[in-house]
Amino acid sequence: MKITDSIMSLKGVGQKTATLFAKKNVYTIEDLLKFYPRNYLSYAEPVDIREAETGSRVAIEASIQSYVDVRKIRSLTLVTCQVKDGTGTVKLTWFNSPFLKKVFHVGQTFIFVGVLSVRNRQLVMEHPEYYTKEQYQRLLSSLQPVYPLTEGLSNKVVSKTVRAALSLLPELEDKVPEQVREDCGLMPLAQAVKGTHFPEGFDRLIDCRNRLVFDEFFWFLVHMRLIREQTVRAENHFVLQDFGAVEKFVHNLPFSLTKGQQDAFREIQADLSGHTVMNRLVQGDVGSGKTVVAEMAMLAAVANGYQAALMAPTEVLAMQHYEGIAKDMEPFGVRVEVLTGSTRAAEKRRIYNALAAGDIDIVIGTHALIQDKVSYQNLALVITDEQHRFGVRQRERLSGKGEEPHVLVMSATPIPRTLAIILYGDLDISVIKDMPASRKPIKNCVVGPKYRPTAYKFMLEQIQQGHQVYVICPMVEASDNVEAENVVEYRESLVDIFPGSVNIACLHGKMSAEEKNRIMQEFADGNIHILVSTTVVEVGINNPNATVMMIENAEKFGLAQLHQLRGRVGRGDAQSYCIMLCGTDRKEALDRLEVLNKSNDGFYIAGEDLKLRGPGDFFGVRQSGDMYFQLGDIYCNADMLKTAHDAVDKLEKSGFPLDTLVSGTEIYNIQL
Ligand code: ADP
Ligand code: MG
Repeated sequence: MKITDSIMSLKGVGQKTATLFAKKNVYTIEDLLKFYPRNYLSYAEPVDIREAETGSRVAIEASIQSYVDVRKIRSLTLVTCQVKDGTGTVKLTWFNSPFLKKVFHVGQTFIFVGVLSVRNRQLVMEHPEYYTKEQYQRLLSSLQPVYPLTEGLSNKVVSKTVRAALSLLPELEDKVPEQVREDCGLMPLAQAVKGTHFPEGFDRLIDCRNRLVFDEFFWFLVHMRLIREQTVRAENHFVLQDFGAVEKFVHNLPFSLTKGQQDAFREIQADLSGHTVMNRLVQGDVGSGKTVVAEMAMLAAVANGYQAALMAPTEVLAMQHYEGIAKDMEPFGVRVEVLTGSTRAAEKRRIYNALAAGDIDIVIGTHALIQDKVSYQNLALVITDEQHRFGVRQRERLSGKGEEPHVLVMSATPIPRTLAIILYGDLDISVIKDMPASRKPIKNCVVGPKYRPTAYKFMLEQIQQGHQVYVICPMVEASDNVEAENVVEYRESLVDIFPGSVNIACLHGKMSAEEKNRIMQEFADGNIHILVSTTVVEVGINNPNATVMMIENAEKFGLAQLHQLRGRVGRGDAQSYCIMLCGTDRKEALDRLEVLNKSNDGFYIAGEDLKLRGPGDFFGVRQSGDMYFQLGDIYCNADMLKTAHDAVDKLEKSGFPLDTLVSGTEIYNIQL
């Protein structure tokens, strides 16, 4: 058996299991070794029954008090038994486990682990795990891996399969150069992989994960370095000289540009008319007005006789950009089209032809824009909005379409400059620090569910004044069906509460792209007054007339995500409000929301979020999904990022040929 063999060569893995693993992109034994747990279950010291909290998982140490009762209820066997410690009694129940009668004998003591509830005034634990004292002692110091699963693939099967794969662990090649491993005091890779799957205690787990996080950053940065070598030298084949149209465009705007917008464009202009091709990141908080800057750059390209493309992460956002930009460009005779996954085949063909013939000036869309089928007549500028992983692969694809175009990346993710320089090593950075002067800061509140009627009354007043409202319901983990249902049901409950003249619609990920676009269009046109939605509206959506953002179960969201959601309001001149409904009175939850309550500044929020999370809190809600590493978190693991960065620096300075590290080989854990 070899590490590159299919997992089917492992004992107990047949075609059926292999098909399930394939859904998780696990094909070989090596893939399996790198399929890390997403969380861990820990076992706590047993507590007194009297002290045990109901509703959460607890361990109790108790002795069997009653004879074990086995009863048949239709096709089920129900096993019950009473246990006690010095402080109370609990009734235990199991289904279909009649053999337990032979396991438990009156007077014996076990540790039972499960969720306690109260039924008929009695404490009950259903289907508890049970352990002898010795067994439990061993568990106490361990953490059980919890894997990302797919239907039909159980945690038990994954654990067992991973365990079987561990025998091939010595074959896992550590490609990080020896010198780096020594300098940074890295533990052996195999040890880290093993300890991440089956940790020996929490401290040890952090060490192991840190090694893997290092690797993730290291390989990412090695790549960045190699790209930079290629791109920095790329010559500017699209030197733009005429900025007259841009000046006119700015003159026609209904507002004047902020200083941040002006400065950012000045830098862009210098790039576009300079010697080397532009690779620039424009960073600006939600609502700082990045789109206008993008439009100026695109218009410049078109006015100089070239084409430009704008890529958005979702169809909804692409459509919205299209509507706005097509309108803004009309006075300049610029031909704008939109191309997404749901563009009909005939229409697609027409657009492909027109792009190749140069009959389209600006094309807006999703990833469909850089597919192989698309060729451009003279594409000079590519802009990506809110998606950071516009990396090597995409750029390679583009360069196959002619000379390397200018690239502008727009982002609202509040990454501190020091980190941004590392992460976007191949990009120059412009920061829009200020907000349009006419903006009023959003007013926030964090309230409990009791406040709901008051919130609805307030929403109605805003609607009567001609404004619009968003209500966000949390995404229920991993189950899109439930998610959709939540939103649908919530809408129905609002329909009962609000007068018939208030139009309420819902939006969720299960809808077709067409349906979503239609709803967003209606919302933009003002025909929908309340939009009940999941986080699909999170990124980039712009409806300056919306003034209320109400977030149900705000405690279930990450701070960065809440900040993005809140950024959907306060985009026009009217006073806007963000109502965060907190479904719990747990102090940590309230403390976290208080950060948002106090501040509208994305950088401040990211910093505070980090402070509230400990260094081991790697399962907390992720800061941002767009700079996505499998294990690493650029905020929590900022030190590690720095270490990896310095290591790559040092390697390069010592003359180490970085390209030999990655040439032709599969990259460990990273997708660029
Ligand atoms: P983001 O940076 O979040 O992408 P947008 O570009 O969508 O923000 O801009 C948000 C809103 O602010 C839009 O309605 C836009 O027209 C408006 N806007 C942009 N720049 C200014 C400005 N200088 N003054 C006033 N409003 C502006
Ligand atoms: Mg935007």
